[in-house]
Amino acid sequence: MTAEVIRCCFCGAEQGDVVVDLGQQPSCELFPARTDPGPDPTFPVRLWLCQACGLAQLTDHDDVPEEVAGLEPEALRTQRRESAGWLAGPNLIPTGGIVAEYDSPHGGSWLPQLREAGLVGRIAGTGEAADLVVDGCFGMMHAADQQAALRARAARLRPGGRLVVQFHSLAAILRLRQWNAVRLGHLAYYSTPAMVEMLARVGLSAVAARDFSLYGGTVTLVASRAGADHHGSVEKLCRYERLIGVRDPARVHALQEDVHSGAEALVDTLRQARARGEIVLGYGAASRAVPLLVLAGIDADLLPVVADASPAKQNCRMPGTDIPVVTPEELTRRRPDTVLLFVPDLLDELRRVLPEIESCGGQWLPV
Ligand SMILES: [Zn+2]
Repeated sequence: MTAEVIRCCFCGAEQGDVVVDLGQQPSCELFPARTDPGPDPTFPVRLWLCQACGLAQLTDHDDVPEEVAGLEPEALRTQRRESAGWLAGPNLIPTGGIVAEYDSPHGGSWLPQLREAGLVGRIAGTGEAADLVVDGCFGMMHAADQQAALRARAARLRPGGRLVVQFHSLAAILRLRQWNAVRLGHLAYYSTPAMVEMLARVGLSAVAARDFSLYGGTVTLVASRAGADHHGSVEKLCRYERLIGVRDPARVHALQEDVHSGAEALVDTLRQARARGEIVLGYGAASRAVPLLVLAGIDADLLPVVADASPAKQNCRMPGTDIPVVTPEELTRRRPDTVLLFVPDLLDELRRVLPEIESCGGQWLPV
């Protein structure tokens, strides 16, 4: 048997470690119709950490059914507004220049916020070089050839131009145990040290970086062909992220323990509730709920429905399971004792919008 060779999708190195393995997973963005009996196509999801450049990446680049650009959460626009305000600070970005933005499958654009901050003179034509090149909303993480993607962006820079990239840092994923941020379609998971290394290899240097609170740690980083680290902000963030363990395969591998313990704990909760004759239902047909339900092997016997307010998801089922997605009205009609909340950020809002859950004696349980 020959050992599997994995090659870094940025630097081509073959030295690295599989740090997280989520097994076979269905697309977490494509919700099948309830009438579609499945089985849904599945793809391997393994995270590999390159020893050479430090980029964490999926090992397989299958053509996964594409996600539809949905409604963008307000939190993303807020973060871009904060970022644009920071970018408009002294000496970071040439003001009023030519701006080029790379599209993202997530939809969303920096241009409104950059305009508000006075950073847009005009939009670059197709292929035209620009003073400010912005990677659209988490766009580059979808590229199968990371080196080509970064080189293309760097090549668009006019003399003195700046490249701005934004990423949900691997440091936040580690610190907050966000293993289900690892998912099909998202091929690259950057840390600040890895991004600095990658930029250096395409002839750019990072000149400023700042960590924002979105997703527990979203970094906006500015790079240019020549320039020094403003106030040591890049170096400081790199030092912090290295302490968290972003370049250490053993530290990243610790996420794997959370994968199994999370799935087992969920199954235990559901079995115990069923033994007590309680009704447990779910809320939030979110992509992050998919790997958890699939890994735990939970079906409609244990979790009869998951409610979601999005009309596009109703009459669908959760990918990889037979659990139907229903309306919030249907959820309250069933008088659940417990509602597993797959999107904990929604807790306050849901307590307000669906007071019937608690007034009928039920409880919300963030998972
Ligand atoms: Zn590499």
